[in-house]
Amino acid sequence: MARRGGRRKQKDPYVCPSCGARAGVVEKTWSLVSPLPDKYGRITVTIMAVLNCSECGYSWKAPIQKMKTGGEEPSKSEEPAKRQGQVIELDLDDILSED
Ligand SMILES: [Zn+2]
Repeated sequence: MARRGGRRKQKDPYVCPSCGARAGVVEKTWSLVSPLPDKYGRITVTIMAVLNCSECGYSWKAPIQKMKTGGEEPSKSEEPAKRQGQVIELDLDDILSED
């Protein structure tokens, strides 16, 4: 099964789109907050940056970091409720009283 473009290669934000040199210098950053939370109630915050190529001087904007905040982490520590062995109390008087 040949899946084309299946590899999710993260685009390097520091690579200059003009000359291809990995020479981006962050000039300014700001955060973009996604208006819609994901299904876990988390908000995606994208850190955007203005980068400036130290090779050719081209400047561009690129997301340099993404993070999720808020919501609830899906809990992994689900402890199975310990089943206490059932305690059977016998009334010895009943057993021992023989007619
Ligand atoms: Zn460049």
